[in-house]
Amino acid sequence: MIKETYAIGDNVQKFCPACDEQFGHIVKSLTKAGLVSRVKCSKCGLTGAYKPSAKAVKIQELAGKTGDPYATTRTYRAGQIIAHPTFGTGEVMTVFNTRTIDVLFADRVRRLVHSRI
Ligand SMILES: [Zn+2]
Repeated sequence: MIKETYAIGDNVQKFCPACDEQFGHIVKSLTKAGLVSRVKCSKCGLTGAYKPSAKAVKIQELAGKTGDPYATTRTYRAGQIIAHPTFGTGEVMTVFNTRTIDVLFADRVRRLVHSRI
């Protein structure tokens, strides 16, 4: 799994437009949510904005939300936020025709069972 949250001084891999190559960048500043906002190229020293992946942003958003309790007897829809006793807060990504759903949790997407109408 790719680490999505960092501390100042950590190393992240990023494409440097000045070096025209992917290099290790030093984290210079973080957003309030703990995502990298600015990085400095370890080769040429160029400081630039760092865009976290859409998935990282979504996971950060999930951390602040309260979901509906998860139970196999309940029915869920895409986009619904659920609270799983083991995996924590997740967002329903895909609802299948087979009583299964794919849910994005902080670590990864998991396939769960639900009760289909
Ligand atoms: Zn560079």
